[in-house]
This record gives sequence, structure tokens and C-alpha cells, in this order.
Amino acid sequence: MRRFLLALLVAAPLSAQQSLDQMIDAEMASLLATYKQLHAAPELSTQEAKTSAYLAAQLRSLGYTVAEKVGKYEDPNATCYGVVAVMKNGAGPTVLVRSDMDALPVTEQTGVVYASQTAGVMHACGHDVHITTLLGTAKMLAQLKSKWHGTVMLVGQPAEEVVKGAEGMLRDDLYSRFGTPTYAIAIHDNAILPAGQIGYCPGYFMASADSVNVTIRGLGGHGASPQSTKDPIVMAAQFINALQTIVSREDSPLDPAVVTVGAIHGGTKRNVIPDEVQLLMTVRTYKPEVRQRVLASIERIAKGVATAAGVPADRMPTMEVLKGESTESTFNDPALTERLAKALGASMGEKNVVKIDPLMVSEDFGRFALGGKIPATMLNVGAVDPARIAAGGRLPSLHSSQFAPVPEPTLRGAVKAMTVAVMELLR
Ligand SMILES: [Zn+2]
Ligand SMILES: [Zn+2]
Repeated sequence: MRRFLLALLVAAPLSAQQSLDQMIDAEMASLLATYKQLHAAPELSTQEAKTSAYLAAQLRSLGYTVAEKVGKYEDPNATCYGVVAVMKNGAGPTVLVRSDMDALPVTEQTGVVYASQTAGVMHACGHDVHITTLLGTAKMLAQLKSKWHGTVMLVGQPAEEVVKGAEGMLRDDLYSRFGTPTYAIAIHDNAILPAGQIGYCPGYFMASADSVNVTIRGLGGHGASPQSTKDPIVMAAQFINALQTIVSREDSPLDPAVVTVGAIHGGTKRNVIPDEVQLLMTVRTYKPEVRQRVLASIERIAKGVATAAGVPADRMPTMEVLKGESTESTFNDPALTERLAKALGASMGEKNVVKIDPLMVSEDFGRFALGGKIPATMLNVGAVDPARIAAGGRLPSLHSSQFAPVPEPTLRGAVKAMTVAVMELLR
């Protein structure tokens, strides 16, 4: 009898697990068709009209209550194509599951038969994987309704690549209209992990991003009469060199930060000293206090260089942080992340759920956490053929024209992970 009971206890979760695998198997052909259709028809950030309409229609057909065009951009004439789909299923927490929807201005060179049909636009970040995963998870959760309690809130977010979509949806009273989530989760494909493997990273996962413009202003004149000018090109050179000490000397080695000057514009002719030089920069950090300090240092150094050069007070450098192109860091709530990693390990096998390193790239998913008020975490799903990883050599990164997730194992892992994650939080 005892042996029988033990066998039952061991067998119960296993058979439940097999049934989720079987459910995903039954859906796989349809998920692959959806993925390929989305991949062939990418839309740029803020222009996700067809993608969002498709997502909304599919979610509606699965029994979700769906709202479209949720979101407001700063420009009142721009349409924000946010989708919110809610399924209420008794008392319990609310779990927000987010997928981004936008593609990139990249000309696809993967050679896959379902390659982009839109010239110069490609799902090079795999947001088509995320949309398909959201749909697969939505279907699993609808079918498993007797096994969870609470509210599922699925979010199709536009304009992630320009970090405007999450902000836009929140500006449109997302939470007062549809409820404030207890947890927020998301998954992003990963260009170095084996397809279907899940990566998790407790704590800071992705950096904040600030787009900064600095204009070094001098006094222009003849290139052969430097004595009567204040040369902004020389100042710009000094400024760029001095910037290097922000990370190397001012910042703690334990606090990651990046200051990159990606573009410099100044001058028109070899014998003319220009009036000004513009520098376009990106700043990445994790901690908000480091972010503020680095931005303040950039401004201080720019002014210091100008002062040292004797620039008059009314020609001091100007600095602008582009609000619409900036976003905070993605902080994966450690307790939530560990809880999900444990649940995923139990259902997918511990070797398929691995801890991964944080990144200095950025995402606007962190906005949904409202500055740490809502525990949130973003998982990763590997998208790379394991044989290709084993062979060594260069793998195309996210945003590469050659980035081509292996669809079936990637979607299988992602749909299973997100379904198990939501079910864990709504047990
Ligand atoms: Zn991207
Ligand atoms: Zn992305």
C-alpha cells in the first residue's frame, strides 16, 4: 500500500507534466505557422497596426476580453497599438505577461523560406517568437482553466525597440483601466543559449539607457588664425578623453556603467574652425544613483573643458537627455525569479534552466514594475541550434540580419516556460 501511494505521488506531477507537453505538441503546427506568418510580415516600432490586430483577434477567439490601441504617445497624433487581453478566473493574484511586437529596420539575410516580405524590415530581435509564445501560453492557460485561479493579463506592447511602448501604455492608465498586476513577467529570446533552454537572472538584468546630446560651443573662425577662436573640435577631443575617467576613475568597479560616444558632428571645411561640435552619446547603468551620477559627471566635464579653454560664459556647452529615448534598468525581483526558476527546473529539468549573466543592453519591460512596486522578471529562451553552439565560431547576435531562431524547440521551451510560470503564480 505504501509503495503504491509513493508511486502515485511520484507519478502525479509527471503525468500532469506529460499532458502539458502533449498539449503543446498538439498546438505546435499552428504555432509554427503563426510564427512564420509573423516573421514574414514585420512592422517597425510604433507602426504595429496589423500585428496588433492579429494578436487581438487571436486572443479574442481564445476567450479573452481584449482591448486594442491601448496607449498614448507624447505625440497626440500617433496611434499606440497596445493590446491588453484579460481572463478572470476567480479570486487570486493578477499576472501580467508581456510580449513586445515591433521589428527593426534591418534587411534580412537569413535565407529562411519564411523571410521578411517587407523590404528593409526584419524581426531581428525575435519579437515574433514572443508574440507566438504569448498566443501559445494564452491557449494553454485557457485550456487549463480548472488548474489555476486569479487573473491573467496579457500585454502586446508596441515600440519596445525605441523604448516608448511600455511608457505609452502606462500613460494611458493601463493599470487603472485593467487592474494592477501582482506580478509582471516576460520572456526574450537569447542568441547564445541552446534552443528551448531557459535563462534566468535574479537582480539587475538589463541596463538603463540614456540618449544624451552634448553640444560643445566655441567661437569659430579661420583655420589659420586659431588665436582668435575657441576651437570646439579640440575641446570635443579633450571632452571625449576626459569622459573615459567617469567609468574608470569615478565609478565603483562593482557598479557597471558604459559611456559611449557613438556619433560626432562638427565642421564643414578643413580651413574653418566651426562654432560648435555635437556629440551623440548613450549611457548605460544599473543603479538609479549611478545613472544620476554619470549624467552629472558628463555635464560637469563638458563645462570643465570649456572653462579650461576660456570659453565665455554665454557659450558654455549644452547637454540634453532625450526623455523619449531613455529607459530605466530591468530589475528582476530576486524572490520571484528564484521561485519561477525552481518551478521551471522541476517541470523542464534542471539542466534546461540556467542562471545567466546580466547584460548592458536595455529594455523597457522594467517600466511595468513601476520602480520596484510590482515584482517583475524577464526570462530568456535560447534560440540557437545546439550543434551550432558546439561547432564554435561566431553566432549572429540579436539585431543581426542573420539572426534566425530555430522555431520549434525555441517555441516549445518558451510556451512551456511561460505556462508553467503563470500556473506557479496562480496555483
Ligand atoms: Zn531588440
Ligand atoms: Zn527585443
